[in-house]
Amino acid sequence: MTRLSDDWRRTHYTKEVDESTTNSEVTVMGWVHEIRDLGGIIFVLIRDREGMIQLTAPTKEVSAELVETIRKLRKESVIGLKGIVQESGKAPNGVEIIPNEIKLFCLANQPLPMDPTEKVKAEIDTRLDSRFIDLRKPSVSSIFKIKSKMLHTVRCFFEKNGYLEVNTPKLVASATEGGTELFPITYFEKEAFLGQSPQLYKQMMMSAGFDKVYEIAQIFRAEEHDTLRHLNEAVSIDMEASFMDDVEVMKVLNDLVQEVIINVKEDCSEELKTLGIDLETPEGHFEIVTYDDAVDMINSKDVPMEWGEDLSRAAEKALGDMMDGYYFLTEWPTEIKPFYVMPNEKDPIKSHAFDLMYKDLEISSGAMRVHQHDLLREKIAEKGLNPDAFGGYLKAFEYGMPPHSGWGLGADRFNMTLTGLENIRETVLFPRDRRRLTP
Ligand code: ATP
Ligand code: MG
Repeated sequence: MTRLSDDWRRTHYTKEVDESTTNSEVTVMGWVHEIRDLGGIIFVLIRDREGMIQLTAPTKEVSAELVETIRKLRKESVIGLKGIVQESGKAPNGVEIIPNEIKLFCLANQPLPMDPTEKVKAEIDTRLDSRFIDLRKPSVSSIFKIKSKMLHTVRCFFEKNGYLEVNTPKLVASATEGGTELFPITYFEKEAFLGQSPQLYKQMMMSAGFDKVYEIAQIFRAEEHDTLRHLNEAVSIDMEASFMDDVEVMKVLNDLVQEVIINVKEDCSEELKTLGIDLETPEGHFEIVTYDDAVDMINSKDVPMEWGEDLSRAAEKALGDMMDGYYFLTEWPTEIKPFYVMPNEKDPIKSHAFDLMYKDLEISSGAMRVHQHDLLREKIAEKGLNPDAFGGYLKAFEYGMPPHSGWGLGADRFNMTLTGLENIRETVLFPRDRRRLTP
């Protein structure tokens, strides 16, 4: 493939072609969204990432060669268009482009595997099978523009607050917290696993003296069940901070969620409109519901739940119905939380663990951690795990480990709360579930 010649460079995204560009020549690049040939005049809608613009070709006024090129176009072909902007009451943006030159970069095959316009609603499986076309739809690309803004805000937030971004290994020798959700892989002569959480490594970074760290990375979980909120590959936003307790890191999470919402509302208003979402900025501290209270609330709705059990799906739904937006669930029973969670000193059957919920959806789990080596070793054994398998991790607790706390926030689930989507598959470009490993 030869390089693009200098005179075929984009001057404007379609959105930037407006009244201010009237009478000037512009070059836009994009996909042929629609062609309407009325004989004496041909309209072509050209779409790019930012929007659409109408090409208008009165067949008597443009060259015969150009008319022929336009008539050969097929939907979803990729073209470059050079032309003069002209005001037009009828065109979608109030302006249209009268073509001077068209360059065909790629002629699309017909028929298309799915309709990229929003006219025909396709099932999620059909959409995912042809995801590259599905993603051309503004209602779909908006989800990812919002996600990009969310992740950017997360990075800015952590950097501004003195956190170091780290990258921990995803090929690991042992489980983070037990083996059930692990994907085993062949690692030369050994068995290894895909990382289900950066938990152990981000804690080791506390011993390393990094003080405050964050990571945005993939986590892998062999989730057995097929739900609307689990995938086998998800992105987790993780933080860990030394000399902080659970209350302090809950505040960090609270502030972060609010900042993301403010930024998304400010910078993604078009995308929110496309999705039909009216995001509310939650004020101040999110409500706190203790686990004890949650059990009572859930039982009051005739959903049976004993103290000490994890929330069933029915329990999450019952609680979600009673709660508005984001809230923390605190003081979890130590027993049902992982070994690294700090028990309450005065009442050790309860812990310093919390979840951040959005209605009936868990979006984050966090806690103050056990930083005392002997207690940690004991707790690993209590969970029926072999402490010796955690040798490399435990060692970091023997030679200077500060008290610390942290959380993991599911980026895809968080995005569901920003975009109002019910199915996590929609918020991931190429989702991985039990039945899907391609594309
Ligand atoms: P759940 O109880 O909903 O299965 P979890 O308690 O097992 O979640 P954690 O280990 O606490 O999940 O992970 C922290 C966060 O990572 C979760 O709150 C969630 O936002 C996200 N997460 C965990 N597992 C998945 C998954 N399989 N798919 C998508 N996101 C996930
Ligand atoms: Mg959890």
